[in-house]
Amino acid sequence: MTTENTEISAALARIAPSRTTAMTDRAIALRDAGRDIISLSVGEPDFATPPHVVAAAKAALDDGQTKYTAVGGTARLKAATVLHFARDLGLQVPVSQVTVSAGGKQAIFHALLATLNPGDEVLIPAPWWVSYPEIVRFAGAEVVALATTASGGFRITAAQLEAAITPRTRWLLLNSPGNPTGATYSARELRALGEVLARHPRVLVMSDDIYAPLRYGPNGSGGDMHATLAVECPDLAERVLTVSGVSKSHAMTGFRIGVAAGPEWLIRAMERLQSHSSGNPCSISQAAAVAAFEGPQEFLADWRERFRARRDACVAALNAIPGLSSPVPDGAFYCMVDATPLMDHFGPASDPNRDEALALHLLEHGVAVVSASGFGGRDGFRISFAADDARVAEAIARIAAALTPAALNHANLASYTSVTK
Ligand code: GLU
Repeated sequence: MTTENTEISAALARIAPSRTTAMTDRAIALRDAGRDIISLSVGEPDFATPPHVVAAAKAALDDGQTKYTAVGGTARLKAATVLHFARDLGLQVPVSQVTVSAGGKQAIFHALLATLNPGDEVLIPAPWWVSYPEIVRFAGAEVVALATTASGGFRITAAQLEAAITPRTRWLLLNSPGNPTGATYSARELRALGEVLARHPRVLVMSDDIYAPLRYGPNGSGGDMHATLAVECPDLAERVLTVSGVSKSHAMTGFRIGVAAGPEWLIRAMERLQSHSSGNPCSISQAAAVAAFEGPQEFLADWRERFRARRDACVAALNAIPGLSSPVPDGAFYCMVDATPLMDHFGPASDPNRDEALALHLLEHGVAVVSASGFGGRDGFRISFAADDARVAEAIARIAAALTPAALNHANLASYTSVTK
């Protein structure tokens, strides 16, 4: 028997499906249907997960580690997480101040859900990662966009932060290196933001550092220590939640392991919520993450260099396409491409989501990307260059072919329907 009431909750009705995962699902469905699609929509390294990590997962299975663990992660993984924060981010925290979740996304979800009330405001530099504003809205709080520009390196300034804080501000969400722009804050810039935050003790700060190992310079030179707020401004550490993980650094996206370090009250609040949402993160994945944090890290330098070479090739090829421009990202593995000169083909300027039609047009030509409007930007798209060099080159050749005047004039743009419908 079917129910007559199929209404979803008011909280869910406030949010849209994730545009990164929706586009990726659509690309997978087209591929399953026999279409030749190159997916540059989701951010995941194409490199194989390191063999020692895979071996640790297998050994955990053989060892019967197939049961519940402590909700916030095994003692072994929490200890490895403490090591990771100290070694890779310079952040010294006791084991009582770290927790483990099913991906960094879940840590962020729990932290925001555990602390936000209706009426609270959350400051998010835009362009932002797709899930930040949706989680905030799901929690019933308000998103306050802090607009950034390509010429300003997609970074907010201290003055901009000061002007945006109100008595209702509860969180500032920082992401460095950032998704989708690669924006990377220097230690000096973080200290300037910290001076502002010091005057507003009610504001919590999320420092999403998941891309920390992937810095190319000039603002985030790969050789230097990654700069993170809780280290640069120790006086603020009691209200900073630093999020990290193994997905991007160790090509372990499918394992779903994220870690966080922060004040004990917040860590306990997140674990309280996790005890009712997923319970513990996957036991096998936790064993693999121990190997990732404790095992050799040398391969990272090689991966970073390969990503840097891809970034340079990708930016050059995109900028050679008439109508497209891409700044050089300082970190992560995305290019945020502006397509403003071409956008009249895809809808009136009054439509802030007309770049969805552009993304669907590119999909028609065999490349999956995510529209800029999904990230709080507009009139462009994000591509991930975390794919094999030849595939990225072929994808950009397809994009060029899709955007010639002839291809644009022949496109049946009206046939494109939203990727999230
Ligand atoms: N964070 C990655 C991305 O932006 C993975 C997909 C997602 O969770 O949004 O592509």
